[in-house]
Amino acid sequence: MTKSLRIVHLFPELLNLYGDSGNILVLRRRLAWRGLVADVAEVHVGERPSFADADIVFIGGGSDREQRIVCESLLAEQAELSSFVEDGGVLAAVCGGYQLLGHSYLMGDEKIEGLSLVDLYTDRGEPRLIGNVVVESPICDHPIVGYENHGGRTHLGEGVEPLGSVTYGHGNDGVTGQEGCLYKNVLGTYVHGPLLPKNPGVADYLLSRALERRYGNGELEPLDDAAELTANKSMYDRLMAGEVEEQ
Ligand code: GLN
Repeated sequence: MTKSLRIVHLFPELLNLYGDSGNILVLRRRLAWRGLVADVAEVHVGERPSFADADIVFIGGGSDREQRIVCESLLAEQAELSSFVEDGGVLAAVCGGYQLLGHSYLMGDEKIEGLSLVDLYTDRGEPRLIGNVVVESPICDHPIVGYENHGGRTHLGEGVEPLGSVTYGHGNDGVTGQEGCLYKNVLGTYVHGPLLPKNPGVADYLLSRALERRYGNGELEPLDDAAELTANKSMYDRLMAGEVEEQ
């Protein structure tokens, strides 16, 4: 029997900053290269998704305007999403999506209720935190490289691990040196890029967790990641050498 994973992609038409939907292509392709199948379900605003048979849920980032539009739809799914997360379901969320995982998000002066899936909250600060970012994370053995652009400052509750520590750029709040969050099989991050094409270790972390949960075996056949890792290293080297002018 061919193993397959069901990937639920929430609101692709609205939450797709900096090509976040490219993350789905990477998950699909890295499964296919291993003879595994991705069954991708796109969920649009106003539709009621089912998470009962989901393996990986993905939420991308968006501007405040788009975040406000998806908020209501997302809150309607709070109970189901919470069961999914507590049951070890894999959830990856980027920037605006990451902020919505927490208790609240400050939009202007207005506090928007979040999904409370992870003990964190987001307020705001000036200036916006914009630019390239590099994160060292225990989940993969290459640095995570990407791009961030957010006004939000995310604060993790006690017991919530960061995805990693920032070695270049700003991360969660520009102060603590922490980036993203890890909670059960939830990964939240400010890293766009999109995240996965240049960070194959992160993609495999998500796939392995999902396969482990579904089939009891998260072992992944190794792939030739020379091209991906060359792109990653090229960006890493340029950033660390101070060759990239940030605005
Ligand atoms: N609107 C959010 C902020 O500015 C998230 C932006 C994003 O997804 N890049 O903090």
